[in-house]
Formats: sequence, C-alpha cells, structure tokens
Amino acid sequence: MIPMVNLQAQYVEIKAEVERGLAETITNCAFILGPNVQAFEQEAAAYLGVKHAIGVASGTDALHLALIAEGIGAGDEVITTAFTFIATAEAIKYVGATPVFVDIDPKTFNISPAAIARAITPKTKAIMPVHLFGQPADMTRIQQLCEQHQLKLIEDACQSFGARINGKQTGTLGDAGGYSFFPSKNLGAFGDGGLVVTNSDTTAAKIKQLRNHGSDVRYYHDVIGYNSRLDEMQAVILRVKLKRIDQYNQARRDVAQLYSELLSDLPLTTPFADGLGEHVYHQYTLLSDCRDDILKALQAKQIGCAVYYPVPLHQQNVFKAEYASVSLPITEAVASRCFALPICPFLADDTIKEIAGVIRGVFTVN
Ligand SMILES: *Cc1c(COP(=O)(O)O)cnc(C)c1O
Repeated sequence: MIPMVNLQAQYVEIKAEVERGLAETITNCAFILGPNVQAFEQEAAAYLGVKHAIGVASGTDALHLALIAEGIGAGDEVITTAFTFIATAEAIKYVGATPVFVDIDPKTFNISPAAIARAITPKTKAIMPVHLFGQPADMTRIQQLCEQHQLKLIEDACQSFGARINGKQTGTLGDAGGYSFFPSKNLGAFGDGGLVVTNSDTTAAKIKQLRNHGSDVRYYHDVIGYNSRLDEMQAVILRVKLKRIDQYNQARRDVAQLYSELLSDLPLTTPFADGLGEHVYHQYTLLSDCRDDILKALQAKQIGCAVYYPVPLHQQNVFKAEYASVSLPITEAVASRCFALPICPFLADDTIKEIAGVIRGVFTVN
C-alpha cells in the first residue's frame, strides 16, 4: 500500500530529536506558550524573513485572526478563489465579510489577477490569494492591485511554507499571512497548529492579544479574543522539522520532476513547473479527461490518490444558494478533471515509477 503522505518515513529520521524535546517539555510542565513556542516563532520569523511570527491553534484560525486584526468585518468584500480548501472562505465568513469568488489561471490553478481586477467594487476591502498546492500566486500583480485600490492583502500560505517568489517567502508579501501545520501539510505538526506572520508591529500585537483571550497582561482583557495558541508540544516538533524544511521541499520538487518526466508523453496535464515562483509541491496535481479511470486503477493497486478539490467553493452545499448566479468556467473545468498523486519527501524513485506505470497502463488498455 502506498499512502498519499508517508509520515512514518519522516518520523523515523527525526524520532530521537522529537522525543527528547517532548520528554523535556513534559518534565518541565510548561505547556502553554512556553519556551518552544517562543523559540519556534523566532526561528520561523528568521527563516521566512519577516518581522513577526505568532503561533496559533490552526491555519483556519491564522486566517481568521489575521482578518480581524486587519479590520475586515461586516459589509466588506474579500476577493478570493473558489478552488481552495473551505477554510479560506470560512475565515472570511467568520468576520462577517463576504467572500467574492473569482476565477483562476488555468496553468497554475491560482487566483487570476485579471479576474480580481474585474471584481473590485467600492466594498472590496481585501484580497486573499491562496498559494495552492505550494505554487506561488501572481503576487506582483496582486500587490499592484492592492496598492492601486488600497486593499489589504492577506495571503493564505497554508500549503506553501517555504515557497519563494521574487526572492521572498509566500505569506510575507502582504499585510499578513497565514500558515497551517495540519499533519499532512508540507510543514506538519503532530496535531493542529498554525502561524500568522506580519511585518506590522500593530498587527502582531493584535494577533497576540486575540489568540490569548484578548489579553496582554494575564487576567486583564482589552477585547473579546479567542483561545487559539500554538501548542507547546507541537512547537517542539515544528522546530525539528523547520530546520529541514528546505531539504524536504527540495525532495518534493525532485519527486514532482520525476513524475512529470515519466508522464510527459501521456494525454494528461502535469503541474505547471515554470510558474512565477518556486513550487514546493504540497500536492502534485494533474488534469485528465479520464480521471475516474486513473483513480480506479490506482485504487485497485492500493496506491493513494485524491481529488483536491472535487467541488469548488461556490458550488458547495453551504454556499450554492448564495452563489447561484456565479459561474467560474476555469475553476469548474479544473475541478472536474484534477487529481493528485502521492507526494512527500520520502517517496522512492521505484515507487514513483510504479505509480507512473499504473497510470500508463490506463492509457494502453484503452
Ligand atoms: C489546510 C488549509 C487551511 C486550514 O488549515 P487548518 O490548519 O487545517 O485549519 C486553509 N487554507 C488552505 C488552502 C489549506 O490548505
């Protein structure tokens, strides 16, 4: 059996260091906002080249708290993509704002700057691009639009930790960025976790307050906040993995390159590798007209495969009444043809060849 992500293989390599750190934390009993959260925040900020990094309970919370801190609320429109995980839009809804879904670029699957430009209204307050599957969105043009129309820029970098564009880290190019450490993410904890980054002292101070019950000084509360802290145990694990993130991301790129070489002559679309920035392949996503045959063949061989995402957000049950008049032809076409193959830093060349062989078989039989 070949899983989508082989977390065990990664654990074997870091086991001793992780277990030493966890044992120390248990011995010291500093479980909430302890020394490892503080150290991880400093190390992550240094790695990402950003002034502030604030650990929170999840990627969803990171986006939610970033929107609150940037003053986005009821009556505001936030332009984003419908080809993403639901949490992007949930965060916008939590603050009472309206997600405005626009179409994507057919090659990168990321939000289209031209479509953003057409959707800007006097109510637009922010743009929330997603660096989907680890591929940076077209930030130069998105930043221009934000400057031109005085919009906030909040990046959903939940799938793109370590992906650079224009020499900078995704997540650090706007007013605030959110990352997720969900276990299967390319920087994953052993449970939930998230991070907000910003270069603004004001935004950072607000996020620190919001994650801790609206409090700067214990038992003194200035605003209604949340219980949304990065767990100390998760910080221990993240510190170990952060040291290796460039190596992990490079290994993912190597896996992707081999897949793309092996599949290049088949009638399917491999991920666009000449994007504007460095793709970190959180997912390796292809397009095919015979997706269902491919998925069936892979499943029959117990090879992991998945569809991210089968239903774009504007067509989800939760949103379809509200967005009945919205049509996003590229998003819809991609969602009906996309599928993802196993990817992680520990996928052997032989396994990649085996998976590619199964896909080749689908086309030879037909
Ligand atoms: C995973 C993910 C989130 C949410 O992160 P959680 O840590 O699971 O809350 C948000 N946006 C995108 C694009 C994601 O992939």
